[in-house]
Amino acid sequence: MTRELPSPADLHTHSTISDGTQSPRELVIAAAEAGIGTLALTDHDSTAGWEEASEAALDVGIALIPGMELSTRHGHRSVHLLAYLVDPENRALVDETARIRESRLTRAETIVESLSADFAITWEDVRAQARPGSTLGRPHIADALVAKGIAADRTEAFNDMLHPARGYVFPHYAPDPATAVALVRAAGGVAVLAHPATTGRSGMLSESSICELVDAGLFGLEVDHRENTTEGKVLLRSYARRYGLAATGSSDFHGAGKPNLLGENTTPSPVVQRIIAAADGWTPVSP
Ligand code: AMP
Ligand code: FE
Ligand code: FE
Ligand code: ZN
Repeated sequence: MTRELPSPADLHTHSTISDGTQSPRELVIAAAEAGIGTLALTDHDSTAGWEEASEAALDVGIALIPGMELSTRHGHRSVHLLAYLVDPENRALVDETARIRESRLTRAETIVESLSADFAITWEDVRAQARPGSTLGRPHIADALVAKGIAADRTEAFNDMLHPARGYVFPHYAPDPATAVALVRAAGGVAVLAHPATTGRSGMLSESSICELVDAGLFGLEVDHRENTTEGKVLLRSYARRYGLAATGSSDFHGAGKPNLLGENTTPSPVVQRIIAAADGWTPVSP
């Protein structure tokens, strides 16, 4: 029987290892100050923040569940998969995340090249916004646009220049969701579909697609997330009941990069216990 981790639990947050604005240590300190008992660090496609966050969690006396938010793609749709307690040295997972990060890098360079035809922005401007070795994304390009006075904040940049309809951005490589779930399982981790209902029922993965993920070993659905629509949450809860999936809740905190606040949504303790019991790739840091 695993020891119970402290409540409340916020199981989805980002640091400067990807597109958050606080270092892993700063993030853990902020979580402790916000009264979080158990925090999961889930940077996009990277486990590079685990060590720093784990040390900080021990220092401030909160629990840490090391994780990652894996980029996947289903047709034209970008699908995010939370991966908890994977073995960070699992060969297949290490190779796949390296491939995704590499594609993110070349994609960002190409996006910046086409943006530079119309806006005063350079690749160096974007690099200056990202910690070396971090997972690059549109948020870093947005930060560069803000730094150059071209956009007011990330949100404006996303709604304007970084909106797909403007023609500058295009997707990076990502595996399909079922492959990603299987990868996470093979690495001893627990896979939870991140914010699956941000566009309501219409934009959601179909029930049969979710069934495929269940067959591949999907563990849960992130139901309580500010971007899931109300009707989407109802549907997600019915899927959770029907397929025996765990229902999680979390903030998806990105520091100053998004309005989301630490602990604005949380995951009930019994669900956290189920996640820990189901994982054997890594163990949580416990105070
Ligand atoms: P990318 O992975 O490069 O396509 O960028 C997607 C990331 O941008 C997501 O992980 C979000 O955290 C972030 N994002 C999406 N929309 C916004 C927004 N309106 N404001 C700030 N960040 C956003
Ligand atoms: Fe993000
Ligand atoms: Fe996400
Ligand atoms: Zn996220």
